[in-house]
Amino acid sequence: MTNTQSYPAWIDLHLHLDGSIPIETARKLAEEQGISAPTTREAFQREMSVMHDCKNLNDYLARFQLACSLLHVREAISECVHDLLTELHRQGLLYAEIRFAPQKSCMQGLTQREVTECALQAMHDSPIPCGLILSMMRGEVTHEANKETIEVAKTYFGKGVVAVDLAGSESLYPTHTFAEEFALVRAAGIPLIVHAGEAAGAESVREAVNGGAVRIGHGVRSLEDPSVVQLLADRKVMLELCPTSNLQTGIFPSYDAYPIRQLMDAGVRVCINTDNMTVSDTTLAKEWQYIIETAHLTKGEVRTILRDTIEATFAPEKIKEQLREAVL
Ligand SMILES: [Zn+2]
Repeated sequence: MTNTQSYPAWIDLHLHLDGSIPIETARKLAEEQGISAPTTREAFQREMSVMHDCKNLNDYLARFQLACSLLHVREAISECVHDLLTELHRQGLLYAEIRFAPQKSCMQGLTQREVTECALQAMHDSPIPCGLILSMMRGEVTHEANKETIEVAKTYFGKGVVAVDLAGSESLYPTHTFAEEFALVRAAGIPLIVHAGEAAGAESVREAVNGGAVRIGHGVRSLEDPSVVQLLADRKVMLELCPTSNLQTGIFPSYDAYPIRQLMDAGVRVCINTDNMTVSDTTLAKEWQYIIETAHLTKGEVRTILRDTIEATFAPEKIKEQLREAVL
């Protein structure tokens, strides 16, 4: 494999389907489904992307509404997965793990199993190797739906599904209240990822790691407690960093303030990701550019990140070997 990119934007491990639907795909699907949406491309993009005008997390989350309304129909789910993977290939990515919450696509009669099957079907002819992560949701009444997500993950683990994640409002629904779900995921032998240490503090990261998480979505606020940073380093837990997303939701004021160097210096493993390409109006190459330029990463540090990223993928050993040959 060869690559002509200026930045090492080859592997994205934290990428939400609903936040990353290519604009043209979304426009086509909105028209087909008769969903009211702005007619010009510019206005449509403003509806789906925060651009430079994001004020807070609520502003950010509002940008998901249109995308989420599109994902309740079989063909639309498959088309979004297909077009996103095609776009990642066009950008030069070599591997990706896409995530979504099947329970959010069941408003028009589909079951979580059917929704997941639509996504997996579209992955069969993906131009790049990829894995599907099924997200559970934080919420007061999501526990039953989360258990169903775990059941679906058990059926398709090793057949396209590579892990289970927990997403949603960290500050409203504390991590420890999902202990039962974590235990079920662990018992099934499926890798667990938890979004933590973004809207909630370091304690949420400790609870996630103690619950069995092998990767943490964001986790940047671990730095508020040195003992949590030490725990991450000791357990070799990967933090999936998504810089632009964190800036847009107001966690850090600028790329200069983004603490990747503090985390790396403390021995914590990190990888660079987009979170939501469309909502955040970003690409993996842009994320790497911001980080390399503001944190002044050396070639050796970039290589360390890439090596750790490959090890943290849930790809089969054969794919990992291809990735090592291509990027290290
Ligand atoms: Zn995320």
